[in-house]
Amino acid sequence: MDELKVFAPATVANLSCGFDVLGCCLDNVGDEMIIRKNDLGKLRITKITGQDLPMEIDKNVAGVAVIALLEALESNQGFDIEIHKKIKAGSGIGSSAASSAGAVFAVNKILGEPFSNKELIAFAMQGELLASGNAHADNVAPALLGGFSLVRSYDPLEIISLPVPDDLRFVILHPLIEIKTRDSRSIIKQSVSLKQAIHQWGNLGAFVSALYSSDYELLGRSLTDEIVEPIRSILIPYFDELDKISLENGALGFGISGSGPSVFALCKGESNALKVKNAIQEFYENKDIDFELHLSEINKKGVKIV
Ligand code: ADP
Repeated sequence: MDELKVFAPATVANLSCGFDVLGCCLDNVGDEMIIRKNDLGKLRITKITGQDLPMEIDKNVAGVAVIALLEALESNQGFDIEIHKKIKAGSGIGSSAASSAGAVFAVNKILGEPFSNKELIAFAMQGELLASGNAHADNVAPALLGGFSLVRSYDPLEIISLPVPDDLRFVILHPLIEIKTRDSRSIIKQSVSLKQAIHQWGNLGAFVSALYSSDYELLGRSLTDEIVEPIRSILIPYFDELDKISLENGALGFGISGSGPSVFALCKGESNALKVKNAIQEFYENKDIDFELHLSEINKKGVKIV
């Protein structure tokens, strides 16, 4: 096999109670990438469509992630990388993670799978370091493993895959304003009070428990965040109104996706998700902001060969 085309999925990180440690993989939202071997002994980005992103190998997250993988193998195999972006950079649904994860997944497959998908996470994290200045795993882990991922520890890296209740759906609103992860990280306070910490770890524990027991109501109650959301939500137009509309229409919970500006409503069942999506659409259509709206199941596989 010399060439592979993959679907590189979007992901929702943080999920309110799990800042930097929790993420989930989406199903029908993501990029396409084509990776093929070349005989030049070097890595090239040969094509990017849909977005204006760096073609230089050391400035594109896909290149940086593949360099990390090839260095670990001490390989000088060359590859050409084509990236067809459907997710906009700075969207908050893991645009950079999709490229890093898609690239290392495809290169690893072409090379005969020297690494497991779990081992690929560390290479893809190098792409995140380039994109945001922080090698976080809460987008690249679910992009590579599918479903929900929990980062138990960064040093050493330990990722735990969590169960996916069947009826969960995400509605994602992406207001088309750009918030760079780097910028939205810089406004967060660096310390939390004991009271806030107690609240947060109670909710994170409950969220994980609810995934195991498919307790949808508990999942919804756990989706709160007193640490980051009050600060970051200021950057997102009509955040409070969207929260209210989602819950009034039956969503289990509502929050910021990653570093925003995308927001998510977690819903039980397709028909409730459609109702929430329509209500959000009706509300946002009257505002002066372009937007994209997605309804997605949870992708249990992560990056897929297409
Ligand atoms: P997101 O949360 O949607 O991934 P980030 O702000 O974390 O957005 O990352 C986007 C940044 O990474 C932008 O500065 C973009 O130029 C840079 N970047 C480099 N390569 C890529 C790529 N292949 N896909 C997306 N963003 C990339």
